[in-house]
Amino acid sequence: MTTVEAPETHAFEADVAKLLHLMVHSVYSDKDIFLRELISNAADACEKLRYESIGNPALLADDPKLGITLIADAEARRLIVEDNGIGMTAAEMADALGTIARSGTKAFVDRIAAGNDEGTQLIGQFGVGFYSAFMVADKVDVISRKAGTAEAAVWSSDGKGTYSVSPVDLAEAPARGTRVVLHLMENAKSYTEPFNLERLVKVRSGHVPVPISIKDKPEGELKDIADGAALWTKPKADISQDDYDDFYRTAAGQFDKPALTIHYRAEGRHDYAVLAFVPESRPFDLFDADRHGRMKLYVKRVFITDEAELLPRYLRFVRGLVDSSDIPLNVSREMIQESPILSAIKKGVANRILSELEKLSTSDSAAYEKIWETFDAVLKEGLYEDFERREQLLGLARFKTTASAGKWRSLKDYVSDLKPNQTAIYYIVGSDLERLDTSPQLEGFRARGIEVLLLPDQVDSFWVTAGIDYQGKPFKSVTQGTADLKLIPLPDGKTQPSAELDAKVASFVAFTKSVLGHAVSDVRASERLTESAVCIVASESGMDRQLEKLLASAGRDISASKPVLEINPGHELIRKLAELGDTDIAFREDAAHLLLDEALVADGDRPRDPKAFSARLGRVLGRGIATSG
Ligand code: ADP
Ligand code: MG
Repeated sequence: MTTVEAPETHAFEADVAKLLHLMVHSVYSDKDIFLRELISNAADACEKLRYESIGNPALLADDPKLGITLIADAEARRLIVEDNGIGMTAAEMADALGTIARSGTKAFVDRIAAGNDEGTQLIGQFGVGFYSAFMVADKVDVISRKAGTAEAAVWSSDGKGTYSVSPVDLAEAPARGTRVVLHLMENAKSYTEPFNLERLVKVRSGHVPVPISIKDKPEGELKDIADGAALWTKPKADISQDDYDDFYRTAAGQFDKPALTIHYRAEGRHDYAVLAFVPESRPFDLFDADRHGRMKLYVKRVFITDEAELLPRYLRFVRGLVDSSDIPLNVSREMIQESPILSAIKKGVANRILSELEKLSTSDSAAYEKIWETFDAVLKEGLYEDFERREQLLGLARFKTTASAGKWRSLKDYVSDLKPNQTAIYYIVGSDLERLDTSPQLEGFRARGIEVLLLPDQVDSFWVTAGIDYQGKPFKSVTQGTADLKLIPLPDGKTQPSAELDAKVASFVAFTKSVLGHAVSDVRASERLTESAVCIVASESGMDRQLEKLLASAGRDISASKPVLEINPGHELIRKLAELGDTDIAFREDAAHLLLDEALVADGDRPRDPKAFSARLGRVLGRGIATSG
């Protein structure tokens, strides 16, 4: 008999304490979810042991059938969730059940704790894991014996700040694996009703790849309630969309539904099954730097790893699994991940996912556009990361444009509506769709009916500058370089502004340039303005201003290039300023500076020198009052 030492008490890590507090105090209305979480942990433990036992069959010893058992105990108001999986040592328990290791959890806790309304919605996207047990139990004991060891320990907590870990007698522990004992709260006693438990398992955990059975009382008979058959190995005809949805929710720990389900078996050079889901909603950690892919790798139904990065990064929102039949199992996890078979599989799966998206875009464009809208910012990363599939991704891309009235347009749509002599695909990047749509730089394009893509995502600054073209048409920023709009006719009835600048305007442009000096790289008459007096653009050789701002805000040391100030020769204000000729130098100097600041403000920037700006504005307004008086 092992000697039983006094329990060691530990405090929960700060984030665990916060998470527990939030969970118990109710952001989570759906208490049932605790069962799914505990079953999912038990199944993970069985899958880990299944894998370990390939190299070390002795671990399974005389109990080779892995499974999960629920034991209801109405009399003691307890529910037990037990598995004969890998188990945990005392140290592993203290580590796994006292801290939060999962990526994104801290960010999640902070956002929930911030207490805004997105809370409930967010929590719905987050598998809360083991700690959800405290939504229904005021005390939880976890008794575990690690496979292949002759020691057992118990972890125990009331979820109020501390937990204890102490060794236990082997006779009180499962022969192998983990027993989670929930001392249920008064208002949670329905979780001792076998009928209720059975129903919950069917709805929430029916497709866990490990069999589940139940005892209606501690000394009762075992009854099987889920067979643990791997859904992906069944013929498609035998699987309903409901089965897929359940599987998705169980496997992904999500609450939404798949927007697209892809299930197939590849046969031929390599033999493997794929079950993949595009979720309906965006996971909250999609843009976390350490968010990795969520496709699981199985080999001959044995779970190998969920860190194999089976898909390109820009498909990291896809959930599901690949199960290979021809990778050898008796090699290390690392060797499996480096197998040439696996690289062939990766390629095949990514291709298939894109082609399924293509298919959906023609068969049900509304459903496709929803997916695009949810994941566009991620998918567009592929445009510069995945050279090989760039064409395909360009085909999948959808955009809001100046002509789309809020709808999505494809590049194919865009190109089929090109204006005569239009040789480029025009775009404008920024951070806010509405502001983009009202940018002064668009005026000349609008007047000619030229469509401009409105690109509001950060990623847009990158792919558009990657030297990409679509059907031979380069992408061109409307805020960079000269606009070259002369060749594209204006609609009937509108006249092209004369190319020859009236001498007075030309000299005002030259004057402005000399006044602004080093603040700009050029001042010129604009072809792109029809209504506003001025706008800012980047020089032909410079970096797009939006990208420049983005890099600067990311702390990158870039030598910002000087902008070009464009002046609308047809604008009344400009014409009046030009009429002043050589008179009134001080006033025209103020005007030149104010025009640049005005253009900067319209571009979302600040005036260069607030003090000088106010002084000039004051002088000019003062003069306005004087002359109107
Ligand atoms: P997750 O399952 O996402 O890792 P959980 O909070 O559900 O997060 O579980 C935390 C960790 O506790 C698991 O990663 C695992 O290491 C350990 N654990 C929980 N339940 C079991 C179990 N039944 N058997 C073995 N380990 C477990
Ligand atoms: Mg878990």
